Amino acid sequence: MEKVRVSYDRNYYKVFITLSEPVSFKLVKDPKHDLLALKMPLKGTYEAEYYSVLLKVGSGVLTLKVKNPKLDLARAWVSKKGRTLVVFIPFKKEGGKYVVVIDPGHGGHDAGAVYYGVKEKTINLQIAKKLAAYLKKDGRFVVYLTRSGDYFVPLGERQKFTSKVGADLFISLHANANPYKRWKRGVEFYVLSDRGVYKKFVDLAADPKEAAHFLSWSIVKDKTLRKGVLKNTLAITQEEGEDLAEALQKVWCKRLKKLLPCRGIFHRNFAVLKVPGVPTVLVEVGYMTNYTDLRTITNSYYQWLIARALYFGILDYLHLSPPKR
Ligand SMILES: [Zn+2]
Repeated sequence: MEKVRVSYDRNYYKVFITLSEPVSFKLVKDPKHDLLALKMPLKGTYEAEYYSVLLKVGSGVLTLKVKNPKLDLARAWVSKKGRTLVVFIPFKKEGGKYVVVIDPGHGGHDAGAVYYGVKEKTINLQIAKKLAAYLKKDGRFVVYLTRSGDYFVPLGERQKFTSKVGADLFISLHANANPYKRWKRGVEFYVLSDRGVYKKFVDLAADPKEAAHFLSWSIVKDKTLRKGVLKNTLAITQEEGEDLAEALQKVWCKRLKKLLPCRGIFHRNFAVLKVPGVPTVLVEVGYMTNYTDLRTITNSYYQWLIARALYFGILDYLHLSPPKR
């Protein structure tokens, strides 16, 4: 080990270790002790604390300890030249609370789909507020809405806001429409596609100013690091987004499949899903072009059921047990 550098980026720690020669390692996660261990050929012993990252080397193992780490999301990789080991450790902040961003689709001049005199933007906001209510009542969440009224917020601003508040997860709420297939019914979950990941990577790798909205400047200005960090944080967005979508769908199918059938998880290049390092999902709760669905998703009682199913899906994804009351 030649040099250790720790950077703090919103709710992540990134540890950069310069090595004297290229190494391979094995990453081991120890949730019981909040530890990350990297098994690799390292000689000697070493111990130091950087910010609140405790780093130890001994018997060929490098261990890293952080308060409240989110070990599921932790990653380690070796940068291009093979000599910089990067360890990425997200952690819970704000007194250990989870930060959830709920994004009610459309708003203001952008009504979204409009059928039978109903505007999609209204349904999205109504369900978003109900989901926020469940999360706030739970007490273990800090909840943000990208809009709390009927006004327009550009997609780019929704992404940047989500990154700025250090979201643990992001859920965008929409209602579907297909005027040519009015028989179509049910819920669909959307996760970022490979193409979406690639496009965002190319865009941000070429545009440091834009990348700085999602990563700290110390990383952005370093071309090699920027690429590695972008690749890995976008992988988190997609892979963890998939886990989140699966958890949401599982609970939904159990509780609501008769009301709003489960149509599956799909991959798309949706702009709003591109928030590096944050698991993102877009939910199309039902079809506005189907009268049965429309009646369900505009009904306040059913909206509470939808919000409750999404809330329990979030709990499942985060391995949290339902609150005792
Ligand atoms: Zn929409």
